[in-house]
Amino acid sequence: MHPTQIFINSQQLVSNLNSIRQHVGDGIKLCLPVKANAYGHGLAGVSKLAEPHVDYLAVSCLDEGRLLRDIGIKKPILVFGAFDEEQIAGLINHDLEVTISSQYKAQLLIKFCEMYRVTCKVHIKIDSGMNRVGVRSSSAPALIDYVLAHPCLDLCGVYSHLAASDEIDKPLTHIQIEQFGHVAQYVKSRKPDVICHLANSGGVAYFAESYFDMVRPGLLSYGYFPAHPINTSPLQAVKPCFSLITRVSYFKVVYANSGISYNHRYKTMYDTRVVTLPIGYGDGYRRGLSNLGEVIIRGQKYTISGTICMDMLMVDIGSNGEAYVGDKVVLIGRSGELEITIASIAAKLNTIIYEVLVGLNERIPRVYY
Ligand SMILES: *Cc1c(COP(=O)(O)O)cnc(C)c1O
Repeated sequence: MHPTQIFINSQQLVSNLNSIRQHVGDGIKLCLPVKANAYGHGLAGVSKLAEPHVDYLAVSCLDEGRLLRDIGIKKPILVFGAFDEEQIAGLINHDLEVTISSQYKAQLLIKFCEMYRVTCKVHIKIDSGMNRVGVRSSSAPALIDYVLAHPCLDLCGVYSHLAASDEIDKPLTHIQIEQFGHVAQYVKSRKPDVICHLANSGGVAYFAESYFDMVRPGLLSYGYFPAHPINTSPLQAVKPCFSLITRVSYFKVVYANSGISYNHRYKTMYDTRVVTLPIGYGDGYRRGLSNLGEVIIRGQKYTISGTICMDMLMVDIGSNGEAYVGDKVVLIGRSGELEITIASIAAKLNTIIYEVLVGLNERIPRVYY
């Protein structure tokens, strides 16, 4: 067994999805974004676990969608990202729902569909203020009409993305909701069963007017709030389901005034005990946590000592510290009263929870319990 593992609490993940459903209310569909290896939680494992509890899964590209079909996922899968002409066959053959943001991309699909006499499920992406991808709200009706005029394109959805739903007191989200609302009204007048969707995690947690027909919370489904936690609704039960665990692989006594690891960026003050852990930046445990990151061993929190290596890191547990080869080590998660949160790691690295989660790579096996 690999000594370093990510444990996913299946029950907690499912409970998060159910809490979100309860919070948004009946009749609103739930789409779970599983892009980027399901935010580090494992694309295949999470998708199999979540499938019965969601209406849609969403990925960023053809390869992620294909993997889901290959493992037997049957629910609708939306691909958020843009596609190339060479990918059209793969997208359609795997029954993936494609995002289009321009008439040009619609034309590429139509050309393919007419040639092979197939249909393609599409969602039109609206730019309501992110200024990333998507057709401008003002040009949306023309693109909607164009798609509806081509029966080989099956218009399943129209959506947009919130740029700042974690900033509760700023007006941008309200402006985006209003803009998207106009487009939603237009498309419903032409095809009432089109799924209009806008809300990401921040939308779900903080902006009830953003729900429309379906919500797409990623971060929140995995147990994290984009801003302040909600303690009043069913969302109060939303909790992380992710822990990062390893085992002590080596123990030694190091003499006083010795440097540890590359470039000796940590110096021992006295004769002390040092343990080595089999995890490093090669697993995505970031080198920026050198002399900063924390671990829990036998109910004690310690700071990492010295530079994190590609495959290992060291911890000075003090001259009386207790830890032996094989001991369990928590790098993310709880151990009794103690906890190391991803938020604390993100703060040390001056980044966001998302980046810490997706950075832990596929060398670390995911274990579902
Ligand atoms: C990633 C993504 C989401 C989920 O965002 P969270 O902030 O994790 O909730 C929703 N919609 C789109 C289009 C995305 O790319």
